Amino acid sequence: MKKGLLIIISGPSGVGKGTVRQFIMNDPSLNLAFSVSCTTRAPRAGEVNGREYFFISKEEFEKYIKEERFLEHAYFCGNYYGTLIDFVDKLRNEGKNVIVEIETNGAKQIISKLNGSDELSIFIVPPSLEELEKRIRGRKTETEDVIKQRMDKAKEELKLQSLYDFVIQNITPEQCGKEIKQIIKNKLK
Ligand code: 5GP
Repeated sequence: MKKGLLIIISGPSGVGKGTVRQFIMNDPSLNLAFSVSCTTRAPRAGEVNGREYFFISKEEFEKYIKEERFLEHAYFCGNYYGTLIDFVDKLRNEGKNVIVEIETNGAKQIISKLNGSDELSIFIVPPSLEELEKRIRGRKTETEDVIKQRMDKAKEELKLQSLYDFVIQNITPEQCGKEIKQIIKNKLK
C-alpha cells in the first residue's frame, strides 16, 4: 500500500485552523486523518482527551521528549505541544493522508527534515491582525494576558510564512478549505 501524505497545516492561534480542518476532513475522497497531539494545556470546555489532544502532565511530556517519541515539539504560550511519531506513522502506513496542525516552531523542525515527495506544508493567514484578535476574543476561552501573548506570537509566526509550500488566506472556512482541498488533490494526482 502507498504510504499516506504528511500534511502540515500552520498558522497563528485563532486563524481558524480547526474550523478549516473540519471542513476539509468532511471530504472522504481525500482519505484524511488528524494527528492528535499531546499537550500540557488544560482542556477547554468540550474538548475530549484523545480527540482534540492527549492531555498529559508536564512530567509525562518531558519523559516523552527523553524517549524521543515526538516528531516535533514546541513550547507555546506557557505549554508544551508535540506530535507523536507512532501516531502519525501508523496512520500513514495505513495509507491515510495525515494532517498535522501545529505552530511554526514545530513546523520548522519538520520542514527542515522533509524530502518533499510525500509531504506538503500549508500556512493559513488571517485577512488582518485586527480580524485575528477579534477571532481570538470571540472564542472567549483565553484571559487578557494570554490574548496578548497569542497576538505577540502571531506577529512572529506570520514572519515565517515563506517557509511553507503554500500560503492561504482564511477569509471564510469554506473558501480556505476549498483551496486547501485543491492543493491536496493536486498533490495526490
Ligand atoms: P491551542 O492551545 O490553541 O489548542 O494550540 C496552540 C497552538 O499550538 C496552535 O497554533 C496549535 O496549532 C499548535 N499545536 C497544536 N498541536 C501541536 C503540536 O503537536 N506541535 C506544535 N508544535 N504545535 C501544536
